[in-house]
Amino acid sequence: MTSSLPDVQCIARARIPTTHGPDIFLHLYTNDRDNKEHLAIVFGEDIRSRTLFKQRPGETQQDRMVRGAYVGKLYPGRTVADRDERLGYSLEFDNSTGELKPADATTWGEHNDTLVRIHSECYTGETAWSARCDCGEQFDRAGRLIAVDEEAETHIRGGSGHGVIVYLRQEGRGIGLGEKLKAYNLQDLGADTVQANLMLKHPADARDFSLGKAILLDLGIHNVRLLTNNPDKIQQVQHEDILRCVERVPMVPIHWTDDTQGIDSKEIEGYLRTKIERMGHLLQKPLNLHTQESST
Ligand SMILES: [Zn+2]
Repeated sequence: MTSSLPDVQCIARARIPTTHGPDIFLHLYTNDRDNKEHLAIVFGEDIRSRTLFKQRPGETQQDRMVRGAYVGKLYPGRTVADRDERLGYSLEFDNSTGELKPADATTWGEHNDTLVRIHSECYTGETAWSARCDCGEQFDRAGRLIAVDEEAETHIRGGSGHGVIVYLRQEGRGIGLGEKLKAYNLQDLGADTVQANLMLKHPADARDFSLGKAILLDLGIHNVRLLTNNPDKIQQVQHEDILRCVERVPMVPIHWTDDTQGIDSKEIEGYLRTKIERMGHLLQKPLNLHTQESST
């Protein structure tokens, strides 16, 4: 791997059946930059972490199954991780290094274009039903888009069951939940998102996407169709000539294409306006859509 990126190691992977679609494979990562548990939510059993699957000295097939380094599907009584007798899949490894040898039949191709979202944790938006931001909506949307061939309302090409949501533990644009709550109070006092962060002596955006890049490369992904409205993110996801953004897939708020769906609140209008006006996000609709009388 390259020198300027963090070292990441996938330590466990598990299949998670979901309430509204295909099984996903949750990957938990450690790294040499922080002590947080960053995640990759992977759609597609054949997208394989190179660090997870690499053979380790002295390990057993049971050890490999327990950490999730298996092909196909686990079932009661299965004894071999590297071969699924029922589905007829087997993995091969380099004899000298122990590294996975990717084969078309069992491993997602390194040249495939892959739908990717790099998502930063947002406790308030994802868990506490916050209408101050659209993180929860965008997270759900990314999952739905990766699962389908095409999104019916927008005709955006989906991932047809293959894709990755990298979930980085950098709450509140990297400032942490406590500081984010203070920023919300400053916003209630009249500041916008950017001003509030600056008043708390934080940068407008303290996020770091280098971990996300290292995780994508570990998953054997080099050509990214990036789900984002943020032009900075396109640059931030590219790395030398090994990680390329081949397409930007827009994430237009659901409420703009369908008045009856998505989040509609005064707070989110202000939040999205700040994203467009202060942070240069490429949202397609003029933001004064619902607030023309008060727009600046
Ligand atoms: Zn949020």
